[in-house]
Amino acid sequence: MTTETLPEVICPLCKVPADWQSLGCPSCREDLSVLFRLRYAARIDYNRALDALAAGDGPLALGLLHRAVAAEPGLEPARELLESLSVAGSPGPERSPAPGESEGDTPSE
Ligand SMILES: [Zn+2]
Repeated sequence: MTTETLPEVICPLCKVPADWQSLGCPSCREDLSVLFRLRYAARIDYNRALDALAAGDGPLALGLLHRAVAAEPGLEPARELLESLSVAGSPGPERSPAPGESEGDTPSE
């Protein structure tokens, strides 16, 4: 499974897709590299989560996946991995959830 459907970055001024090479707007030459970084934050987090999982750091991976899905709800691989991790229970062998502490650390709405 590959993630080849990359989200486009649109220039907020011209409403045209930004140029991948220059990370800027082809029309007004505005530097859109910050938007690119925001746009890909979820994927960066997802990749870091995979690294964390490979390193055996389940809690860190879970946190990164939560952030990735929050940043980009349509990011299916992150969502699926997050679900499978959630179903598997606490990923860390010596880590038990603190009583009275809910998972949602980000206020929704
Ligand atoms: Zn522009």
